[in-house]
Amino acid sequence: MTYTPSPMPFAGNTIDYAEVQRTPQHLQTFLGQSNARTILLFEGKVGIGKGGRLHRTHPSDLIGQNLFEPGPIFLGMEGERPIFAASLQKPETFLPIENFVDLRLGGGQLDPVDLATAGRAKSLFDWHKTHRFCANCGGGSISDEGGAKRRCNHCETDHFPRVNPVAIMLVQKDDMVLLGRGPGWPEGFMSCLAGFVSPGETVEEATYREVLEEVGVKTHNHRYVFSQPWPFPSQLMMGMICDAANTKITLNVKELEDAQWFTRAQVEAVFDKSVPNDAKPFMRPPRTTIAHQMLRYWLTQ
Ligand SMILES: [Zn+2]
Repeated sequence: MTYTPSPMPFAGNTIDYAEVQRTPQHLQTFLGQSNARTILLFEGKVGIGKGGRLHRTHPSDLIGQNLFEPGPIFLGMEGERPIFAASLQKPETFLPIENFVDLRLGGGQLDPVDLATAGRAKSLFDWHKTHRFCANCGGGSISDEGGAKRRCNHCETDHFPRVNPVAIMLVQKDDMVLLGRGPGWPEGFMSCLAGFVSPGETVEEATYREVLEEVGVKTHNHRYVFSQPWPFPSQLMMGMICDAANTKITLNVKELEDAQWFTRAQVEAVFDKSVPNDAKPFMRPPRTTIAHQMLRYWLTQ
């Protein structure tokens, strides 16, 4: 059976980053251009307008508005159209508050390209918010190149947005897959095990270590499948599949509330719309997650 991955949620951004068009002169021109548009965020949520698409307003509509630092971020060019993003302090000036959608809860309803654009904007604003001071000297830093980086006022070090790699893995054995649930997750919800890649590790080594730490299972044959940008706040989820040496689970209760092996038939039932929810063996991860995509991929193997 062949597998055609659906475009990965939060990936597929179509806006040209426009790296060489980020001087103050370029940005001034773009902000005044009649076809320029700004998407709107509020507390990490994104403003939705007509037809369920991202609400877009001209940058001049933001003049006099209270915006969170660093003001409008230049996302790049959509053809000839400059696209900015702004984080609002008073969102109701532009849209009813209920039009601002939490990407984690409501992202699956968005157009895939809008979801990618909104996720990137959210990650950038989250990064600016938590990097106002220089990690080298502690001095204040300012946004530069339309929000593509920050520059320290004192030691002039450049700081660039960070992406944190995470290994997320499907552990398999005898046509079964191992899933777990973290503390405080909704009842019945199960997903792939995952953990941050540590300094000095490959993603394969991180996969081996995480599975051993969380459930006491040794694994081999670690292989990469696909990845996903995850803007909460800025992870690169690297999907891995590996084979378990045995099925004995020793649960690390500091990390997980539960972990279980599920058969192929059980996973199929979870994705089968004709199976009533209360008859499903577990609640599947949301469609916007790479874990959901990995389970679907596993079913085709
Ligand atoms: Zn500095």
